[in-house]
Amino acid sequence: MSVTRTVPNAINQSESTLNKIAVCTLLSFVAVANAFAQEPTISKEPLSERRVSYTMNVTLNPETKTVTGTERLTWRNPDSVPVGELQFHLYLNAFKNERSTFMKESGGAHRGFTAGDEDPWGGVQITRMQIVPDIDADLTPAIPSPGATDLTDRIRFIQPDDGNQDDETVISVMLPRPVQPGETITLDIDFESRMPEIVARTGWKMGESGEPFFMVAQWFPKIGVYEIPGQRYVPEDAERGRWNTHQFHANSEFYADFGTYDVTITTPESFVVGASGRIQDEVIEGGYRTVRYLANDVHDFAWTASPDFLVYEDTWRHVSIRLLLQPVHEGQAQRHFNAAKTALERFDEWVGEYPYTTLTLVDGLGGSNGMEYPTLITCGTYYKLPEWLRGLELVTIHEFGHQYFYGLLASNEFEEAWLDEGMNSYIETRIMDDAYGVGAVIDIAGLQVSDISLQRVAYTKSKASRVRMVQNSWEYPFGDYGTASYSKPSTVMHTLERYLGWETMRRFLRTYYERWRFRHPTTRDLQDVAEDVSGQDLDWFFDQFVYGTATVDYAIDPPLLVSPQSEEGDEVQYRNRVRIVRNGDGIFPQTLLVKFDDGSEEVREWDGEEKWIEFEFLKPARMSEAYIDPDNRILIDTNRLNNRRIRNTLADGSLARMAQLRLASFVHQLLVLLSGLL
Ligand SMILES: [Zn+2]
Repeated sequence: MSVTRTVPNAINQSESTLNKIAVCTLLSFVAVANAFAQEPTISKEPLSERRVSYTMNVTLNPETKTVTGTERLTWRNPDSVPVGELQFHLYLNAFKNERSTFMKESGGAHRGFTAGDEDPWGGVQITRMQIVPDIDADLTPAIPSPGATDLTDRIRFIQPDDGNQDDETVISVMLPRPVQPGETITLDIDFESRMPEIVARTGWKMGESGEPFFMVAQWFPKIGVYEIPGQRYVPEDAERGRWNTHQFHANSEFYADFGTYDVTITTPESFVVGASGRIQDEVIEGGYRTVRYLANDVHDFAWTASPDFLVYEDTWRHVSIRLLLQPVHEGQAQRHFNAAKTALERFDEWVGEYPYTTLTLVDGLGGSNGMEYPTLITCGTYYKLPEWLRGLELVTIHEFGHQYFYGLLASNEFEEAWLDEGMNSYIETRIMDDAYGVGAVIDIAGLQVSDISLQRVAYTKSKASRVRMVQNSWEYPFGDYGTASYSKPSTVMHTLERYLGWETMRRFLRTYYERWRFRHPTTRDLQDVAEDVSGQDLDWFFDQFVYGTATVDYAIDPPLLVSPQSEEGDEVQYRNRVRIVRNGDGIFPQTLLVKFDDGSEEVREWDGEEKWIEFEFLKPARMSEAYIDPDNRILIDTNRLNNRRIRNTLADGSLARMAQLRLASFVHQLLVLLSGLL
């Protein structure tokens, strides 16, 4: 069997929805690719604990904007005691009416996108829920099993987070008989999902052809996470575990258990379908297209459908990359592939192997772009996006990075969003700047803006002193969630990297990934890994900057004091004094570099704990400048303009730097508006 891949330079010439294909003759590549041709991961063995498995058979009706179907769910009780209640996410109900918690929190808008005026609402309704008797486990789920125990009447909406009785995004089902420890229960669930006009990355929007584009996400009844004693924050000695099933909120959307998804999707024939996992087969019959996807060791499943997509394919090592592009963006395929490969490469080198064999890049419509789902991301570009503005690259790399922090590590985004968004933003900035240099985001006519500086400015311009990183996402005051989950953690982790050194940081990233993938790590787990790998107690760092609200600002207190000090029989000596003050409540060890007129230098270390300190240098020369943190290690220092003093002048270049900061701040706001990064 030969292996096919797209010839990169053929992409721009493609006029139809079909890619141009050529034969790749690399033998080693053929062997690797063939071995996993139909497997959704690189392993035939389960990579995760697989507490859940879903088999779904669903049909999209573009007229009514509905997806109807059946789900067969198998859930295994992981606890050592019987469990008599099941809880599910029904997240599409966040868009059911203006009374849902999501709509109340977001005021009907979501990061710049509002539901349309006409018929904007969506929702999911369960029309049947039955326990499948063991003996029937092989029956196809569409057929109600005779003698099955019906649970439909036992479905109750619950609101564990805010008690909003109108919120219908979580249900509880009391079972007639508890599931015994280690035992599995199989349910058949019929459901109908009505897609809203796109809101919060989910729904439909009219495409170029006049047919709707669909991003089908947060769309099916999904069982919550049952945390057992010792898992995350459930005490080791607790008598029993507990459900951790949050309502859908404006700020956060993901937490679920790993398992398998076998999903068959039927659409009108003209629709191109893309989905999580790997396609198994595709049949066109009677005007309908039916595709079956398999996704293993993931915790969610999303898909997209549109008759308008241009389809491109490419390969990176064991990964088949498929790009579904809007026709208006034809010509930007290679930029998408390059960005995806840039991310795949760096993550593989810095964090660990990407274990899936597919990656689908979706160029969606409306507010659907800039979002992550297992092995499928929505990117986002603009018509004639210039090469010097790397918004497409930034979004693609960011969303790909979620495959690790949201996908493989899968921390609880509701409770500790920074472990996903923040760690991801940290690596995103690292990749952008590593791949594209100081002008990573903007590079035109001498204007260069790096990704790290954008995140740092977003942090220092925010109300940094009131934002802690570890907090329930829905409890942040307006605007603070972004600082807490993106810009602050990115800046904090860069500071940690510069404090520990990149080689130690890299070992930390790899160890964190190897130890915690598929296991929902917490902030505590992450700190443990950082301490293990570095051999240092990092409480001082995590307590202040991760759990706490401490802000760092050290300054050279002007002016530099130089006075001649004659000494008998000697040449003139100068008494040079430098005072460093700590303006913030955050404590960070400081390095002082002092330069003198005769070219000599002095370096002093200070633990930074007192409110101020004065260093004195008795030398035959006058000092010319004093500089704290001269190697730019402490990125969380909220004001770097006061870190340097030159004798008799203001800080060197401070006006130019100030202008640069203002520009970076403006660019950041612009990018947030444009990309709506999630
Ligand atoms: Zn994100």
